[in-house]
Amino acid sequence: MGAQELELYLHIPFCIKKCNYCDFLSMPAEEDVRRHYLGCLKEEIRGKAGYFRERRVPTVFFGGGTPSILAGEQMEDLMDAIRKGFSIEPDAEVTIECNPGTLDEGKLCAYRRAGINRLSLGLQSARKEELSLLGRIHDFDLFFENYRLARRLGFDNINIDLMSALPGQHVQDWEDTLQRVLALEPEHISAYSLIIEEGTPFYETYQEDERRRERGEEPYILPGEEEERRMYCLTEQLLGEKGYLRYEISNYAKPGRECRHNIGYWRRTPYLGLGLGSASLVGDVRFSNTRDLQEYQRIYRNSTVFKDTVLSAGFGAGCAKALGCQANVLGKQEQMEEFMFLGLRMMEGVSKAGFERTFGVRMETVYGAAIQRLEGQRLLKQEGGRVCLTREGISVSNYVMSLFLLEG
Ligand code: SF4
Repeated sequence: MGAQELELYLHIPFCIKKCNYCDFLSMPAEEDVRRHYLGCLKEEIRGKAGYFRERRVPTVFFGGGTPSILAGEQMEDLMDAIRKGFSIEPDAEVTIECNPGTLDEGKLCAYRRAGINRLSLGLQSARKEELSLLGRIHDFDLFFENYRLARRLGFDNINIDLMSALPGQHVQDWEDTLQRVLALEPEHISAYSLIIEEGTPFYETYQEDERRRERGEEPYILPGEEEERRMYCLTEQLLGEKGYLRYEISNYAKPGRECRHNIGYWRRTPYLGLGLGSASLVGDVRFSNTRDLQEYQRIYRNSTVFKDTVLSAGFGAGCAKALGCQANVLGKQEQMEEFMFLGLRMMEGVSKAGFERTFGVRMETVYGAAIQRLEGQRLLKQEGGRVCLTREGISVSNYVMSLFLLEG
């Protein structure tokens, strides 16, 4: 049997400014804070890499925050530390999330030298008034300039992130964004609906609307249920007509251009998260780094303390705890639930044979009643030994997933 796989995720928690809807772990920071953070991140890479040297790394993903806020040389330096520590496969997919307005020719050339071969551009909307409502730092023209530059410099695998169901948005506004993006022919499009998160400026402004939606009433400013459903159908239709395959609830790609890194998450491939607040799944342990920047820097700026902790506790739940991580050893039941929740997000669904191989029990034995009920409601279907969502099932996926929770 070949070496086991391990995906890598690196979190860069800095942004130029906070967007109005964002509850990600991200913040504006001065250059010296960023530099200090990178020093700690490299310590973390050096310290943890030794435990995973045997594993093949098929994908690396720089997420944030805004990783493209870093200088090109800083990214080269980081990739260098990663290559020294881990066994990155020669054809690995290496993605960086970029915020339009933070890219220039020097950075993009540095990315190419560093082996970064996939860009994920956070556009969200092509419309000026929507971008300004969201608090984004760019307009469509600036995005377009960055996009064209990336193409000219040879990036041939680009994702564009979009967001629908924005305050005051109508179906024709969403269509306008989709059409302008489709004209650029990116390889991949992620299209999520806005979620109003607590603790954000949007929550303050739109919480009454949210409550109305929850009560089944028509919201004042956010799109209503019917309008949202029409946007959702339009996305599938327009992208489908242009040759994009929907391979996950919110993700569309030209054939062969699916995001390998995210597919790994949905298939529960082991992954190691490096950097502030990042999560990992190794064996049956899920753990996350501290979300406190000062605490993170305290742990990782001193390589001796960090290495002693790793060495004395071994890598696993004990070590994670000693490093101030939240660690959770997953029982079989939780692993089964995850297998179903995550796998069903993909259009290919979950394999019944894969379930049995992993857990030593037939899927029907554990989930027979839920599957039968959902099939009766035409929300799930079975094809070629796999169980997957139907079109109707995709639109009520939260309800479908809830039936795969096992009694404790
Ligand atoms: S750029 Fe992304 S991570 Fe940064 S504040 Fe905006 S949405 Fe959040």
